[in-house]
Amino acid sequence: MTTSEPALTASPPPNLTPRTERILIVEDEALIRETVALALMDEGYEVETAADGKAALDSLCVPPGEMGDAPIDLAILDLMLPEVNGLDLCRYVRQQGLTLPILILSAKSSEMDRVVGLEVGADDYLAKPFGMKELIARCRALLRRHQRQLEPTQAIFRHQDITLYLNELRVTVGTCEVGLSPKEYRILELFMSHPRRVWSREQLIEKVWGPDFMGDRKTVDVHIRWLREKIEPDPSSPKYITTLRGFGYRFG
Ligand code: CA
Repeated sequence: MTTSEPALTASPPPNLTPRTERILIVEDEALIRETVALALMDEGYEVETAADGKAALDSLCVPPGEMGDAPIDLAILDLMLPEVNGLDLCRYVRQQGLTLPILILSAKSSEMDRVVGLEVGADDYLAKPFGMKELIARCRALLRRHQRQLEPTQAIFRHQDITLYLNELRVTVGTCEVGLSPKEYRILELFMSHPRRVWSREQLIEKVWGPDFMGDRKTVDVHIRWLREKIEPDPSSPKYITTLRGFGYRFG
């Protein structure tokens, strides 16, 4: 049989070149601000600086729809700042629903300040004086942790050797990729999302072809046969998709 539908073409891969991460440094002491900025740029980060809390707010909270620079991925906040202090800034940023990681940097190193900083939503705290390597390591860890939280968990259905990747419209049997037509894919997705359920041909037509389908019920059988040829180790004696005579089909 060579008349099956063309295989599903996977959606184009997302842009795989990672965007350069952008770090905002909020620090009123110019020497520290510039030294940290240079060190982070040396590590390949994009850096933006602010000398007071108000300028920091302008960078962090770009009104929706307003064209601006790329969003900030991490903020390094000094606690003692003119205009708006670091704690208020941190609190405000969280109230705005921004989830970027925040590292607080301060000469105040007492346990109390540390606790307060973390309570207003900072993710980490580094006391002055600090080593640049330590700061860079903390930044890297915070960015990595945040990135992991943003990644969607991969949605898959798995049954024995068969894995169906929902976001990628892709199916593997063992380690082999299987090229399915759109209809074959929909049938398998339906089956795998309802293991052991018995489907009549009418139900499969309704779900896969839609209520306006005018064709023959035999269409279902033909597609099931094609699907079996692709996923069953022995299509003549199927172990995944079984036929229930007089009822329909069942997966699993
Ligand atoms: Ca300061």
